[in-house]
Amino acid sequence: MVQTADVAVIGGGVVGLALADAWLARNPGSSVVVLEKEDALAEHASGRNSGVLHAGFYYAPDSLKARLTRQGNALLREFCAERGVEVRETGKVVVTQSDDELPALRELYRRGEANGVHLEMVDEAQLRELEPLARTHGSALWSPTTAVASPAAVVEALAARVRDRGGEILLGSPVLAAGPGFIKTARDGRRSVGHIINAAGLHADTVAHWFGVGEEYRMLPFKGLYWYGSWEPGRLKRHVYPVPDPRNPFLGVHLTVTVDGRAKIGPTAIPALWREDYGGVGGFSIGETWDIARIYPSFLRSPHHDVPGLVRTEMPKYSRTHLVRQAQPLVPSVRPSDFTTKGRPGVRAQLLNIVDRKLEMDFVVRPGERSTHVLNAVSPAWTSSLAVAEHVVAGIEA
Ligand SMILES: Cc1cc2nc3c(=O)[nH]c(=O)nc-3n(C[C@H](O)[C@H](O)[C@H](O)COP(=O)(O)OP(=O)(O)OC[C@H]3O[C@@H](n4cnc5c(N)ncnc54)[C@H](O)[C@@H]3O)c2cc1C
Repeated sequence: MVQTADVAVIGGGVVGLALADAWLARNPGSSVVVLEKEDALAEHASGRNSGVLHAGFYYAPDSLKARLTRQGNALLREFCAERGVEVRETGKVVVTQSDDELPALRELYRRGEANGVHLEMVDEAQLRELEPLARTHGSALWSPTTAVASPAAVVEALAARVRDRGGEILLGSPVLAAGPGFIKTARDGRRSVGHIINAAGLHADTVAHWFGVGEEYRMLPFKGLYWYGSWEPGRLKRHVYPVPDPRNPFLGVHLTVTVDGRAKIGPTAIPALWREDYGGVGGFSIGETWDIARIYPSFLRSPHHDVPGLVRTEMPKYSRTHLVRQAQPLVPSVRPSDFTTKGRPGVRAQLLNIVDRKLEMDFVVRPGERSTHVLNAVSPAWTSSLAVAEHVVAGIEA
């Protein structure tokens, strides 16, 4: 078997491309191949997300998410400037729906301070200046470094930089099997590689298990639905978010502004029935549905999360009217009749630890034999991708 690449990256999403890019930046002249199963880039989470450049204040100060999101926000801005990708400086406000949420809002502010993220506490009058459409009770949080860009434009620009640096991106190349030192694709059969990096998103657990890595994890996908507003571009100026429920890793229904100024409501966190459950039967796998169905009875009794509450609040969000109404406490002028254009849904590659029945909150990077596995690349891994890549590549070289 001839060695055909020094490094093979499984998955051509934003994380896989960032990893190839970071490897080539540190090791110019080495051979790097990215294997992507789809015929086009950005077919999964990297092209189906809100495009919000998060600031990094939600996460526990000792987490990878806290460090890599703050760094990733800065790196992604630099990258967009270098490659001419537009970034819209929306900022973001986090608003309360009752006085009861004020302690949680203050806790978010403290987290921001601990994570080195600039935030301001503002009162109702200041909020009206920042975003006249938003409402809060007493105080709100203002994050000036949150922004937005087109997720697909970032992926395309990153792919171009990988190619400019000499990397190869093979589309339509599903990896069927892999192990220490080899990968097998339908197109090229078995080929030997020096080091394999697993960035397979919704399938990252399966790939890791081929190497005996992360066996305590199972993918528990959650579907994110969106609805676009018919408002004229620029009517909503800032992203408007609620205070999140700390027991679940999702941020709650929010309003975001797209890079071209449109208002968008979502995403939901509806339990998905298979990994690529975007609607219809595309990507349906009876095996995946069976695996997910087997996990739910014990997950429902998890002591760490309010799973019955999550299911009860998320399932009705299949109804557009219901979902849009969830945004009214944040922005009272929102009307279901104004939000009727469906966005491209996304599925979150959320991992469940089946031993302690806990949803993994942080990014997870695990070494394996001649391999490295990026697991749980959930939100905000699009923002953090360039920083995640630097962190992972430095770890491989150490
Ligand atoms: C609804 C939603 C909203 C989000 N909003 C935001 C946001 O606003 N800001 C933010 O920072 N993050 C956001 N995220 C998170 C962000 O989208 C992800 O963290 C990020 O895209 C993960 O990138 P990835 O490369 O790991 O995954 P993916 O984009 O899923 O890429 C993985 C790739 O691997 C390929 N693949 C899988 N298996 C194989 C195989 N066997 N062989 C070859 N290829 C394979 C897949 O086809 C896929 O293209 C959101 C996510 C969702 C779902």
